[in-house]
Amino acid sequence: MTSHKIYRSPYPPPQVPTNVSVPQLLQLYNPDDIEDGKIIFEDDWTGKNLTYSSTREESARGAFGLRHLLGLEEGDVVCICAPNSVDAIQLIHAVLWCGGTAVLVNPLSTEYEAAHCLDISKPKAVAADASTWPTIAGAIRQKRDLSGIKAISIDDTQCPISPAFRFSNVFAQTETLPAFDLSNKDNREHTAVVCFSSGTSGKAKGVELSHYNLIASMLGIRASEPGYNNGGLRGVFFAPLCHIYGLMVVALMGAWLGYHTTLMKKYSLSAFLELSAQKEVTAIRILPTIAVQISKQQDFDLSRLKHIKHIMCSGAVLPTPVIEFFHKRFPKAPIMQGYGMTETNITMLKPESAHRVGSVGKLFANVEARVIDDEGKDVEVGQQGEIWVRGPSIFRRYMRDEEATRETFDGEWMKTGDVGRADAEGFWWLTERKKELIKYKGNQVAPAELESILNSHAAVSEGAVCALWDESRGTEVPIAYVSLTAGAKAADEDIGLLVEDIRQHVDTKVAPYKKLRGGVVVLDEIPKSGNGKVLRRMLPARLARERKAR
Ligand code: AMP
Repeated sequence: MTSHKIYRSPYPPPQVPTNVSVPQLLQLYNPDDIEDGKIIFEDDWTGKNLTYSSTREESARGAFGLRHLLGLEEGDVVCICAPNSVDAIQLIHAVLWCGGTAVLVNPLSTEYEAAHCLDISKPKAVAADASTWPTIAGAIRQKRDLSGIKAISIDDTQCPISPAFRFSNVFAQTETLPAFDLSNKDNREHTAVVCFSSGTSGKAKGVELSHYNLIASMLGIRASEPGYNNGGLRGVFFAPLCHIYGLMVVALMGAWLGYHTTLMKKYSLSAFLELSAQKEVTAIRILPTIAVQISKQQDFDLSRLKHIKHIMCSGAVLPTPVIEFFHKRFPKAPIMQGYGMTETNITMLKPESAHRVGSVGKLFANVEARVIDDEGKDVEVGQQGEIWVRGPSIFRRYMRDEEATRETFDGEWMKTGDVGRADAEGFWWLTERKKELIKYKGNQVAPAELESILNSHAAVSEGAVCALWDESRGTEVPIAYVSLTAGAKAADEDIGLLVEDIRQHVDTKVAPYKKLRGGVVVLDEIPKSGNGKVLRRMLPARLARERKAR
């Protein structure tokens, strides 16, 4: 048998129970002895809030409402498509309390994108607010087989789907349900939440996260860096709850540990900074692009953020000059960086004390990793290869997609599609991305999705999409390369107008963060390998991640 070089986490491995549900964990274990009446979630625009105990009581009432009004049974799916709010958090918890699966759809989705999510998840009910109903209703109309679906109107607005239930009615129950009981079952086999990710290739897929996966991450986060994760924190949060990051650090960890979070419905840098000062936040959780914006802005006096003790930044590389800027402005606030994926949750953590430029830190509690070359062999320490990981927080499977699940796993090992290396002390660096993924300001953009829309344009013979590093925005942006059909070439159209038309054709069908901000470039032909695969490496503006890591 060949031996594998397995890297292990330096953090203490918490025991992950297999017979507890997320609601049971929330109900049974209050690690920081938070008082029942402490407000832990509040909206920035309605002032609505939830206390530590009401988060649990409302879940129990809402679960009763879901069961008795909507007929939601164990394992049934509720798709939630709404901007950040206390109510959205409440609904996620009520679905879990009832034993259902909460499928989180990005509220910025277009009808086309939402229809894809509904198609994968086949929900019994959908929940939306006034801003997302038109999209969800349109998506349902596209899918006749979903016509019996029930609807929950999160802000009690008019909902175009029948039967519709008002959020306030669902939660206005006098009776309650007990927390979803997994004490005699296996929590690895019960999917709690589905988030969407394109994985290593293709369109968005539903990432099934079991109660076990989520509990493993929650216990791991707490065990890894308790100073950064305790009931004493105060923060303002704007990243979408539909992303694993928002789901974990706000909806789940916030409810469990009982720290205070003000939820922003819509992000703007000035509103975020102003609110953070007003709320006297002690922790900021941001993406590197926001960190870059903060370091460049001139209008807000950062000394007003005098209570900040912790800065957490993950999802991409944080440039060194930005780190230096934060050190100068917030000398008492160490910066924690992290690397993770929807499928793996937090995978690596880099505390401030780890002086390694460009490193993403060491393996997260309970995560093991290997580095694999193109032949499938483990490489020597210090050499780069694809990072494979295993552990209790690694997702269960892609929803209704056995093929993608099979391709992503090698036994218990999950292939991340990220290329990196580790040193002898267990520090990790990400060097490249093997998978087809673009990250625009922390949001996933799947090239395959944009390519299928490009290819539906009458003038496009073939399209390929990849990432372009945009220095001024501090993020990757999608750029399209197209070859034209013989007809389009012969028509001798104004190429500038045609390129604009192709760009519009894509941009009008996708969520704003997926737009072709890098533009559309016409090539004579798209470079391909002998077996017909697009050679993204040969596309002129292919992203060089090492360059931007500086
Ligand atoms: P998502 O599933 O949306 O969280 O995207 C996961 C991907 O984001 C990873 O597979 C990486 O390619 C990228 N990523 C996450 N964290 C980092 C980081 N700290 N540095 C560089 N890339 C990262």
